[in-house]
Amino acid sequence: MAGLSAARVLRRAGCYVEVFEQDRIIGGRMATMRLGTAHFDTGAQYVTVRSTSFQKYVDELVGSGYAAPWVPRGLNGEATPTMQQWFVGTPGMSSILRPLAESVRIHTSRRVHTMKRRDKGWMLWFEDESSVGPFHAVICAVPAREALLLLGRIDKLAEPITRVRMSPCWAVMVRLDTKLLPEKDVYSDMSEVVRWVSRNNAKPGRTSKGDQVLIHASPGWSRETEDADPEAVAEDLWAEVSHALGLPPTRPAQMSAHLWRHGLVDTSLGETFLFSSEDMVGVTGDWCLGRMAEHAFDSGARLGRAVMDALD
Ligand SMILES: Cc1cc2nc3c(=O)[nH]c(=O)nc-3n(C[C@H](O)[C@H](O)[C@H](O)COP(=O)(O)OP(=O)(O)OC[C@H]3O[C@@H](n4cnc5c(N)ncnc54)[C@H](O)[C@@H]3O)c2cc1C
Repeated sequence: MAGLSAARVLRRAGCYVEVFEQDRIIGGRMATMRLGTAHFDTGAQYVTVRSTSFQKYVDELVGSGYAAPWVPRGLNGEATPTMQQWFVGTPGMSSILRPLAESVRIHTSRRVHTMKRRDKGWMLWFEDESSVGPFHAVICAVPAREALLLLGRIDKLAEPITRVRMSPCWAVMVRLDTKLLPEKDVYSDMSEVVRWVSRNNAKPGRTSKGDQVLIHASPGWSRETEDADPEAVAEDLWAEVSHALGLPPTRPAQMSAHLWRHGLVDTSLGETFLFSSEDMVGVTGDWCLGRMAEHAFDSGARLGRAVMDALD
Protein backbone atom coordinates (compact mmCIF):
# COMPACT_ATOMS: atom_id res chain seq x y z
CA MET A 1 0.00 0.00 0.00
CA ALA A 2 2.68 2.51 1.05
CA GLY A 3 5.01 1.70 -1.84
CA LEU A 4 2.31 1.84 -4.50
CA SER A 5 0.86 5.01 -3.01
CA ALA A 6 4.28 6.69 -3.37
CA ALA A 7 4.70 5.21 -6.84
CA ARG A 8 1.40 6.68 -8.05
CA VAL A 9 2.33 10.21 -6.91
CA LEU A 10 5.69 9.97 -8.69
CA ARG A 11 4.18 8.45 -11.86
CA ARG A 12 1.60 11.22 -12.03
CA ALA A 13 4.41 13.75 -11.76
CA GLY A 14 5.99 12.16 -14.83
CA CYS A 15 8.76 10.15 -13.13
CA TYR A 16 9.83 6.74 -14.36
CA VAL A 17 9.09 4.33 -11.50
CA GLU A 18 9.87 0.68 -10.95
CA VAL A 19 8.57 -1.42 -8.04
CA PHE A 20 10.35 -4.55 -6.79
CA GLU A 21 8.27 -6.95 -4.68
CA GLN A 22 9.65 -10.09 -3.01
CA ASP A 23 6.42 -12.09 -3.19
CA ARG A 24 4.80 -13.74 -6.20
CA ILE A 25 1.81 -11.45 -5.74
CA ILE A 26 1.59 -7.79 -4.81
CA GLY A 27 -0.41 -6.53 -1.86
CA GLY A 28 1.74 -7.26 1.18
CA ARG A 29 -0.50 -7.24 4.22
CA MET A 30 -3.48 -6.25 2.01
CA ALA A 31 -3.17 -9.54 0.15
CA THR A 32 -6.02 -11.79 -0.90
CA MET A 33 -4.90 -15.43 -0.75
CA ARG A 34 -6.33 -18.53 -2.38
CA LEU A 35 -7.34 -21.76 -0.69
CA GLY A 36 -8.63 -24.17 -3.34
CA THR A 37 -11.37 -22.27 -5.11
CA ALA A 38 -11.92 -19.84 -2.22
CA HIS A 39 -10.26 -16.46 -1.71
CA PHE A 40 -9.54 -15.02 1.74
CA ASP A 41 -8.42 -11.63 3.02
CA THR A 42 -5.65 -12.89 5.28
CA GLY A 43 -4.25 -9.51 6.36
CA ALA A 44 -6.25 -6.28 6.56
CA GLN A 45 -9.95 -7.06 6.99
CA TYR A 46 -11.37 -3.67 6.05
CA VAL A 47 -10.23 -0.07 5.76
CA THR A 48 -11.41 3.01 7.61
CA VAL A 49 -11.01 6.61 6.51
CA ARG A 50 -9.80 9.65 8.40
CA SER A 51 -7.76 11.86 6.04
CA THR A 52 -9.28 13.74 3.10
CA SER A 53 -6.71 12.28 0.72
CA PHE A 54 -7.62 8.68 1.65
CA GLN A 55 -11.33 9.59 1.54
CA LYS A 56 -10.83 10.81 -2.03
CA TYR A 57 -9.10 7.55 -2.91
CA VAL A 58 -11.79 5.37 -1.30
CA ASP A 59 -14.49 7.36 -3.16
CA GLU A 60 -12.59 6.59 -6.37
CA LEU A 61 -12.48 2.88 -5.44
CA VAL A 62 -16.16 2.69 -4.59
CA GLY A 63 -17.03 4.59 -7.80
CA SER A 64 -15.09 2.10 -9.93
CA GLY A 65 -16.38 -1.03 -8.13
CA TYR A 66 -13.07 -1.94 -6.45
CA ALA A 67 -14.48 -1.42 -2.94
CA ALA A 68 -17.79 -1.32 -1.11
CA PRO A 69 -19.01 -0.46 2.38
CA TRP A 70 -19.38 -3.43 4.73
CA VAL A 71 -21.79 -3.51 7.64
CA PRO A 72 -21.23 -6.87 9.38
CA ARG A 73 -24.14 -8.64 11.05
CA GLY A 74 -24.27 -8.66 14.84
CA LEU A 75 -25.48 -11.12 17.42
CA ASN A 76 -29.00 -11.62 16.12
CA GLY A 77 -28.07 -11.53 12.48
CA GLU A 78 -28.95 -7.83 12.20
CA ALA A 79 -26.68 -5.24 10.61
CA THR A 80 -24.48 -3.60 13.27
CA PRO A 81 -23.17 -0.19 12.20
CA THR A 82 -19.58 0.18 13.43
CA MET A 83 -18.21 3.37 15.01
CA GLN A 84 -16.54 4.21 11.73
CA GLN A 85 -17.68 3.13 8.29
CA TRP A 86 -15.82 0.00 7.10
CA PHE A 87 -14.88 -0.49 3.44
CA VAL A 88 -13.66 -3.73 1.88
CA GLY A 89 -12.04 -4.40 -1.47
CA THR A 90 -14.24 -6.27 -3.97
CA PRO A 91 -13.96 -9.10 -4.76
CA GLY A 92 -10.94 -9.17 -2.36
CA MET A 93 -8.96 -6.70 -0.24
CA SER A 94 -6.15 -6.63 -2.80
CA SER A 95 -8.54 -4.81 -5.20
CA ILE A 96 -7.95 -1.75 -3.04
CA LEU A 97 -4.48 -1.54 -4.59
CA ARG A 98 -5.57 -1.93 -8.21
CA PRO A 99 -5.77 1.75 -9.23
CA LEU A 100 -2.41 2.43 -7.52
CA ALA A 101 -0.72 -0.29 -9.53
CA GLU A 102 -1.91 1.00 -12.90
CA SER A 103 0.85 2.18 -15.23
CA VAL A 104 3.63 1.36 -12.73
CA ARG A 105 6.22 -1.24 -13.72
CA ILE A 106 6.01 -3.93 -11.05
CA HIS A 107 8.45 -6.83 -10.79
CA THR A 108 7.31 -9.66 -8.50
CA SER A 109 9.48 -12.39 -6.92
CA ARG A 110 12.30 -9.84 -6.68
CA ARG A 111 13.58 -9.60 -3.11
CA VAL A 112 15.92 -6.65 -2.73
CA HIS A 113 18.98 -7.82 -0.87
CA THR A 114 21.29 -4.79 -0.88
CA MET A 115 21.04 -1.13 -1.90
CA LYS A 116 24.07 1.08 -2.52
CA ARG A 117 24.50 4.62 -3.74
CA ARG A 118 27.16 4.95 -6.41
CA ASP A 119 28.30 8.06 -8.38
CA LYS A 120 25.52 7.73 -10.93
CA GLY A 121 22.76 6.88 -8.44
CA TRP A 122 21.25 4.00 -6.47
CA MET A 123 21.87 0.39 -7.41
CA LEU A 124 19.77 -2.52 -6.09
CA TRP A 125 20.91 -6.12 -5.79
CA PHE A 126 18.65 -9.17 -5.61
CA GLU A 127 19.17 -12.57 -4.02
CA ASP A 128 20.36 -14.12 -7.29
CA GLU A 129 23.09 -11.41 -7.35
CA SER A 130 21.60 -9.64 -10.37
CA SER A 131 21.28 -5.87 -10.08
CA VAL A 132 19.33 -2.89 -11.46
CA GLY A 133 19.99 0.83 -11.58
CA PRO A 134 21.14 3.48 -11.41
CA PHE A 135 18.07 5.30 -10.01
CA HIS A 136 17.95 8.95 -8.92
CA ALA A 137 16.04 8.03 -5.75
CA VAL A 138 14.94 4.97 -3.81
CA ILE A 139 11.92 4.47 -1.58
CA CYS A 140 12.00 1.63 0.92
CA ALA A 141 8.37 0.57 1.57
CA VAL A 142 8.88 -2.48 3.76
CA PRO A 143 8.23 -3.36 7.43
CA ALA A 144 10.54 -1.57 9.91
CA ARG A 145 12.84 -4.55 10.53
CA GLU A 146 13.38 -5.06 6.78
CA ALA A 147 14.03 -1.32 6.33
CA LEU A 148 16.78 -1.53 8.95
CA LEU A 149 18.43 -4.40 7.08
CA LEU A 150 18.42 -2.41 3.85
CA LEU A 151 19.30 1.04 5.24
CA GLY A 152 21.31 0.20 8.36
CA ARG A 153 24.33 2.06 7.02
CA ILE A 154 22.50 5.41 6.91
CA ASP A 155 22.51 6.32 10.60
CA LYS A 156 20.09 9.21 10.44
CA LEU A 157 17.41 6.91 9.02
CA ALA A 158 18.33 3.75 10.92
CA GLU A 159 18.40 5.26 14.42
CA PRO A 160 14.71 6.36 14.54
CA ILE A 161 13.55 3.07 12.96
CA THR A 162 14.94 1.11 15.93
CA ARG A 163 12.15 2.67 18.08
CA VAL A 164 9.44 0.93 16.01
CA ARG A 165 7.93 -2.33 17.33
CA MET A 166 5.88 -4.77 15.26
CA SER A 167 4.23 -8.05 16.32
CA PRO A 168 3.68 -11.28 14.40
CA CYS A 169 0.16 -12.49 13.61
CA TRP A 170 -0.98 -15.93 12.48
CA ALA A 171 -3.85 -15.92 9.98
CA VAL A 172 -5.80 -19.14 9.37
CA MET A 173 -8.12 -19.71 6.43
CA VAL A 174 -10.86 -22.30 7.06
CA ARG A 175 -13.15 -23.52 4.28
CA LEU A 176 -16.31 -25.29 5.39
CA ASP A 177 -18.75 -27.12 3.12
CA THR A 178 -21.74 -25.98 5.16
CA LYS A 179 -22.81 -22.74 6.80
CA LEU A 180 -21.75 -23.46 10.35
CA LEU A 181 -21.03 -20.16 12.05
CA PRO A 182 -23.79 -18.55 14.12
CA GLU A 183 -25.42 -15.44 12.63
CA LYS A 184 -22.69 -13.00 13.65
CA ASP A 185 -20.11 -12.07 10.94
CA VAL A 186 -17.31 -10.78 13.17
CA TYR A 187 -15.93 -11.73 16.59
CA SER A 188 -13.10 -9.71 18.13
CA ASP A 189 -10.89 -10.50 21.16
CA MET A 190 -12.58 -13.88 21.53
CA SER A 191 -9.94 -15.24 23.92
CA GLU A 192 -6.28 -14.79 24.86
CA VAL A 193 -5.43 -16.88 21.82
CA VAL A 194 -7.86 -15.58 19.19
CA ARG A 195 -7.94 -11.89 18.33
CA TRP A 196 -10.37 -11.87 15.42
CA VAL A 197 -12.74 -14.18 13.55
CA SER A 198 -14.70 -13.15 10.47
CA ARG A 199 -16.98 -14.78 7.97
CA ASN A 200 -15.03 -13.82 4.84
CA ASN A 201 -17.93 -14.74 2.57
CA ALA A 202 -20.22 -12.23 4.32
CA LYS A 203 -18.31 -9.34 2.79
CA PRO A 204 -19.82 -7.71 -0.30
CA GLY A 205 -18.82 -9.24 -3.64
CA ARG A 206 -18.06 -12.74 -2.24
CA THR A 207 -20.18 -15.82 -2.71
CA SER A 208 -19.85 -19.27 -1.19
CA LYS A 209 -21.89 -22.42 -0.62
CA GLY A 210 -20.50 -23.03 2.85
CA ASP A 211 -18.66 -20.70 5.25
CA GLN A 212 -15.20 -19.23 4.77
CA VAL A 213 -13.80 -18.41 8.19
CA LEU A 214 -10.75 -16.24 8.72
CA ILE A 215 -9.01 -16.40 12.11
CA HIS A 216 -6.31 -14.06 13.46
CA ALA A 217 -4.38 -15.18 16.53
CA SER A 218 -3.47 -12.71 19.27
CA PRO A 219 -0.01 -11.08 19.07
CA GLY A 220 1.05 -12.81 22.33
CA TRP A 221 0.11 -16.31 21.14
CA SER A 222 1.56 -15.62 17.67
CA ARG A 223 4.88 -14.61 19.22
CA GLU A 224 4.99 -17.79 21.32
CA THR A 225 4.23 -20.02 18.32
CA GLU A 226 6.20 -18.13 15.63
CA ASP A 227 8.29 -21.19 14.80
CA ALA A 228 5.47 -23.75 15.07
CA ASP A 229 4.33 -25.96 12.21
CA PRO A 230 1.61 -24.08 10.24
CA GLU A 231 -0.60 -27.20 10.07
CA ALA A 232 -0.54 -27.55 13.86
CA VAL A 233 -1.30 -23.83 14.22
CA ALA A 234 -4.35 -24.16 11.94
CA GLU A 235 -5.62 -27.14 13.96
CA ASP A 236 -5.13 -25.35 17.29
CA LEU A 237 -6.82 -22.13 16.23
CA TRP A 238 -9.78 -23.92 14.63
CA ALA A 239 -10.22 -25.99 17.83
CA GLU A 240 -10.10 -22.79 19.92
CA VAL A 241 -12.74 -21.05 17.76
CA SER A 242 -14.99 -24.14 17.65
CA HIS A 243 -14.83 -24.37 21.43
CA ALA A 244 -15.49 -20.64 22.01
CA LEU A 245 -18.48 -20.65 19.64
CA GLY A 246 -19.80 -24.01 20.85
CA LEU A 247 -19.75 -25.47 17.33
CA PRO A 248 -20.42 -29.19 16.73
CA PRO A 249 -17.21 -31.14 15.96
CA THR A 250 -16.56 -30.43 12.27
CA ARG A 251 -13.68 -31.28 9.96
CA PRO A 252 -13.11 -28.29 7.62
CA ALA A 253 -12.92 -29.06 3.89
CA GLN A 254 -9.58 -27.21 3.85
CA MET A 255 -7.44 -25.15 6.22
CA SER A 256 -4.20 -23.24 5.86
CA ALA A 257 -2.15 -20.99 8.15
CA HIS A 258 0.01 -18.03 7.16
CA LEU A 259 2.34 -16.12 9.49
CA TRP A 260 2.58 -12.35 9.09
CA ARG A 261 6.00 -12.09 10.71
CA HIS A 262 5.91 -8.28 10.90
CA GLY A 263 2.13 -8.00 10.99
CA LEU A 264 0.86 -5.44 13.46
CA VAL A 265 2.44 -2.22 14.63
CA ASP A 266 2.81 -1.90 18.42
CA THR A 267 4.92 1.27 18.51
CA SER A 268 4.98 3.55 15.50
CA LEU A 269 7.61 6.07 14.48
CA GLY A 270 5.35 9.08 15.04
CA GLU A 271 6.48 10.74 11.80
CA THR A 272 4.83 10.60 8.39
CA PHE A 273 7.95 9.22 6.66
CA LEU A 274 11.74 9.48 6.75
CA PHE A 275 13.65 11.04 3.88
CA SER A 276 17.23 12.10 3.33
CA SER A 277 17.43 14.57 0.43
CA GLU A 278 21.21 14.37 0.68
CA ASP A 279 21.16 10.61 -0.02
CA MET A 280 17.90 10.63 -2.03
CA VAL A 281 16.45 7.74 -0.08
CA GLY A 282 13.21 7.55 1.89
CA VAL A 283 11.33 5.12 4.10
CA THR A 284 7.57 4.64 4.28
CA GLY A 285 5.02 2.21 5.71
CA ASP A 286 2.03 2.00 8.04
CA TRP A 287 4.48 1.89 10.95
CA CYS A 288 5.59 5.49 10.32
CA LEU A 289 2.20 6.98 11.22
CA GLY A 290 0.19 4.23 12.91
CA ARG A 291 -0.94 0.67 12.20
CA MET A 292 -3.66 0.81 9.54
CA ALA A 293 -3.82 0.68 5.77
CA GLU A 294 -4.84 4.34 5.63
CA HIS A 295 -1.62 5.24 7.47
CA ALA A 296 0.38 3.36 4.84
CA PHE A 297 -1.47 5.19 2.05
CA ASP A 298 -0.88 8.65 3.55
CA SER A 299 2.74 7.94 4.48
CA GLY A 300 3.53 6.75 0.94
CA ALA A 301 1.77 9.62 -0.80
CA ARG A 302 3.51 12.23 1.35
CA LEU A 303 6.93 10.65 0.81
CA GLY A 304 6.23 10.52 -2.93
CA ARG A 305 5.66 14.29 -2.89
CA ALA A 306 8.83 14.90 -0.86
CA VAL A 307 10.91 12.89 -3.33
CA MET A 308 9.32 14.75 -6.25
CA ASP A 309 10.18 18.12 -4.66
CA ALA A 310 13.76 17.00 -4.11
CA LEU A 311 14.07 15.84 -7.73
CA ASP A 312 12.88 19.23 -9.10
C1 LIG B 1 -3.44 -9.69 10.49
C2 LIG B 1 -3.56 -8.26 10.07
C3 LIG B 1 -4.79 -7.62 10.15
C4 LIG B 1 -4.90 -6.28 9.76
N1 LIG B 1 -6.13 -5.68 9.79
C5 LIG B 1 -6.26 -4.41 9.33
C6 LIG B 1 -7.55 -3.82 9.19
O1 LIG B 1 -8.57 -4.45 9.43
N2 LIG B 1 -7.61 -2.54 8.73
C7 LIG B 1 -6.49 -1.82 8.40
O2 LIG B 1 -6.61 -0.68 7.96
N3 LIG B 1 -5.27 -2.38 8.48
C8 LIG B 1 -5.13 -3.65 8.94
N4 LIG B 1 -3.90 -4.24 8.99
C9 LIG B 1 -2.73 -3.43 8.65
C10 LIG B 1 -2.58 -3.25 7.14
O3 LIG B 1 -2.56 -4.50 6.52
C11 LIG B 1 -1.27 -2.51 6.93
O4 LIG B 1 -1.34 -1.28 7.61
C12 LIG B 1 -0.91 -2.22 5.47
O5 LIG B 1 -1.19 -3.28 4.61
C13 LIG B 1 0.56 -1.88 5.46
O6 LIG B 1 1.01 -1.59 4.17
P1 LIG B 1 2.54 -1.31 3.92
O7 LIG B 1 2.71 -0.95 2.51
O8 LIG B 1 3.03 -0.33 4.93
O9 LIG B 1 3.31 -2.67 4.28
P2 LIG B 1 3.18 -4.14 3.67
O10 LIG B 1 1.80 -4.43 3.29
O11 LIG B 1 3.86 -5.03 4.65
O12 LIG B 1 4.04 -4.06 2.34
C14 LIG B 1 5.43 -4.23 2.32
C15 LIG B 1 5.81 -5.02 1.07
O13 LIG B 1 7.21 -5.08 0.94
C16 LIG B 1 7.56 -6.39 0.50
N5 LIG B 1 8.97 -6.58 0.92
C17 LIG B 1 9.47 -6.69 2.17
N6 LIG B 1 10.80 -6.80 2.13
C18 LIG B 1 11.16 -6.75 0.82
C19 LIG B 1 12.42 -6.79 0.15
N7 LIG B 1 13.59 -6.90 0.81
N8 LIG B 1 12.41 -6.71 -1.22
C20 LIG B 1 11.24 -6.59 -1.91
N9 LIG B 1 10.02 -6.55 -1.31
C21 LIG B 1 9.99 -6.62 0.03
C22 LIG B 1 6.57 -7.29 1.23
O14 LIG B 1 6.46 -8.54 0.59
C23 LIG B 1 5.30 -6.46 1.11
O15 LIG B 1 4.58 -6.73 -0.08
C24 LIG B 1 -3.75 -5.58 9.33
C25 LIG B 1 -2.53 -6.24 9.24
C26 LIG B 1 -2.43 -7.57 9.59
C27 LIG B 1 -1.13 -8.29 9.46
